[in-house]
Amino acid sequence: MGYPGLNQKSTINHQNNYNPTSVDISQTFFSSCFVKSLDFQAKEGFSLRDKTSTIRFEAQRRTAKRNQPSTISKIRHPTSDIRHPTSDIRHPTSDIRHPTSKKIFVSWKRFSNQIKAVMNVLEVGTTMNFDLSEDQKMIRDSMRDFVEQVVKPGVMERDESKEFPHEVVKQLAEMGFMGMVHDEKYGGSGVDTVSFALAIEEIARWDASLALTVASHTSLCSGHIAIAGTHEQKLTFLTPLAKGEKLGGWGLTEPGSGSDASGMKTTAVLDGNEWVINGSKIFITQGSVGEIFVVLAVTDRSKGAKGISAFIIEKGTKGFSHGPKLKKLGMNSSDTCELYFEDCRIPKENLLGELGMGFIDTMKVLDSGRVGIAAIGVGIARGSMEEAIKYAHERVQFGTPIYENQAIKWKVVNMAVQTEAARLLVLKAACLKDQGKVYTKEASMAKLFSSELATQAALEAIQIHGGYGYTKEYHVERFLRDAKLLEIGEGTSEVQRMVIGKLLAKELI
Ligand SMILES: Cc1cc2nc3c(=O)[nH]c(=O)nc-3n(C[C@H](O)[C@H](O)[C@H](O)COP(=O)(O)OP(=O)(O)OC[C@H]3O[C@@H](n4cnc5c(N)ncnc54)[C@H](O)[C@@H]3O)c2cc1C
Repeated sequence: MGYPGLNQKSTINHQNNYNPTSVDISQTFFSSCFVKSLDFQAKEGFSLRDKTSTIRFEAQRRTAKRNQPSTISKIRHPTSDIRHPTSDIRHPTSDIRHPTSKKIFVSWKRFSNQIKAVMNVLEVGTTMNFDLSEDQKMIRDSMRDFVEQVVKPGVMERDESKEFPHEVVKQLAEMGFMGMVHDEKYGGSGVDTVSFALAIEEIARWDASLALTVASHTSLCSGHIAIAGTHEQKLTFLTPLAKGEKLGGWGLTEPGSGSDASGMKTTAVLDGNEWVINGSKIFITQGSVGEIFVVLAVTDRSKGAKGISAFIIEKGTKGFSHGPKLKKLGMNSSDTCELYFEDCRIPKENLLGELGMGFIDTMKVLDSGRVGIAAIGVGIARGSMEEAIKYAHERVQFGTPIYENQAIKWKVVNMAVQTEAARLLVLKAACLKDQGKVYTKEASMAKLFSSELATQAALEAIQIHGGYGYTKEYHVERFLRDAKLLEIGEGTSEVQRMVIGKLLAKELI
């Protein structure tokens, strides 16, 4: 079953007439970006992929320009008679600029080496530069505009109806946001994890359910294939996932094994050229809307965690089905259900990664997934803080806006400070991942801190809203319901503390 409408061109007017192929969008959606001058009526429609290659092109152009001799150096260039005549008036007694002096050439060389050394130091220094790159800012701002214009208007209705937002996801896919971090070779947009985290924060600012959809689709199912898949598997399965043509689900948790995931019961037995899968998975995000799944199963029970392997299973495979959507506290428009496998036969080639390495690869998948979950936490915490500030300025009690009370202002200040701290943890983990370094501890720290903060910030925001905050008239009660999931999914807070504790001991003892 194809993902609805993804092959259609994006000329449909969606719920609020947002149309990513129209010129209008080039003037509004990307108004803050230099790419606005591009013609977004191009045949393919606008996409993040176009944008990133444009950014790269622009960066290369700027670098090339930088490498050209500057106007000043041209003026001073010794061999140019036109610009550097031998006139004593223009070239007084300055030996430094005199072209024929060998001595001067040597000192210039020395000088330029010193400059290079300084540049090297500066380059090393950039690892502690907190500025976002132009690309990162543009992706964040583009997503912010999209969320304001398209996501925010229907968020309360979606929470109430619990409908999966197919149309919004389709637009995100068309813009390249459903495979942001994946290789362009396999349909992704090839942007860095920092940009991904910033984009997820922006979505979660208004709609954490949608952020969960994008983050889990990108990091779990697609992420596992990106980490462990063969070239053929990536071509066949990662490409439609990264393009957002199909949605992906990832099955680790079972009714009897959550935190202790390696205690799973689902089995995979090789029978000729096929694997036969039996068992079930629970709480699977995109469980009913997904079309490609990565599922973990025991292939050799005697080997414990090293006897677990990963498999790619497509929707529609005989013996594979899903249960009804689970009724949840929050994250209502994210799709969650059980998966069932009854003598489900899949080709031998659908083994993902090495036999027995599924659980080891899962740990890497979760590192990456936790950065996304942590970014959702930052988005909810920021939303709580911003909504609280707005409301506290509007609400007058005792003749003055409640914001003027120190008790209220300090709550908001604490939310702001902690949100900034959470964002820094997230971006540090993302940055380490982008640098190819180990970031397990940092990802767990970011996830732990930001998920607990999201719940606390939402609670404070409700308190600041008083009775109104307890109603569905305001966003903050939804923030609280959505936030709670972050302390549970992809490893509970207790599990994060176990991971961090273990790694701290390893580092220090
Ligand atoms: C909305 C939603 C979406 C999800 N999406 C997915 C998905 O896409 N794919 C997937 O595979 N899973 C998914 N999950 C499952 C999720 O990852 C698990 O719920 C989570 O890992 C916890 O497992 P559990 O629910 O079985 O809780 P349990 O493991 O039973 O834990 C219950 C409680 O005991 C605590 N606990 C357990 N062991 C210890 C210990 N040793 N020390 C201290 N405390 C402990 C836990 O922290 C928790 O508080 C999703 C869950 C939800 C709710």
